[in-house]
Amino acid sequence: VRVLVVSPHPDDEAIGCGGTLAGQAIAGDEIRTIFLTSGEAGGHGAEPAVAGAAREAEAREAARLLGIHTIDFWRLPDGALRSSDVLARRLRDVILDWRPEWLYVPHGADQHRDHRAASRLVGKATRGLAPPRPAVWQFEVWTPLATLDRIVDISQVIDTKLAAIRAYRSQCSVLRFDEAFAGLARYRGEMHSWPGGPYAEVFRRMDAR
Ligand SMILES: [Zn+2]
Repeated sequence: VRVLVVSPHPDDEAIGCGGTLAGQAIAGDEIRTIFLTSGEAGGHGAEPAVAGAAREAEAREAARLLGIHTIDFWRLPDGALRSSDVLARRLRDVILDWRPEWLYVPHGADQHRDHRAASRLVGKATRGLAPPRPAVWQFEVWTPLATLDRIVDISQVIDTKLAAIRAYRSQCSVLRFDEAFAGLARYRGEMHSWPGGPYAEVFRRMDAR
């Protein structure tokens, strides 16, 4: 199975679906991640060029931990991501060329505007695609999902997910994403994954249009 992840910033892939990706990698799936921006605005005081390069290096480390095979950096402007027609065509070309069966992206009601833009971008890029088209699964980062279509037990790989999140040292040194998302995964596991294990990730399907 080919799996494409559209991640607005380096860290969203680990936070939103890192456990699911680690599980799919173990199962033999081929995983490719497109980082739309390099998160250069999230340097917490570092120069954008320095912050972007640091987060790209962190993304490579996280990908190694999760078992992501290929990563692409599109280096679009962090904080000003737009779901333009040009960009949608570029993403559509990747989908048509590589033919992923699965696609992961943040959900369209996320608090972060770049995440909403990424969701719209995937909607645009996949709209009207002839079959076979990828199943699009939306994940949660800044805003938890209200409606769930898929619950993945990640108890066997929670340590891998947290290690991948911690690989983003530039972020975790300021905000403890590892603790926050260990908590969210625990909540999902306890509340929504019965009779699964203690940790889960959840997804909302993007309807085909
Ligand atoms: Zn993000």
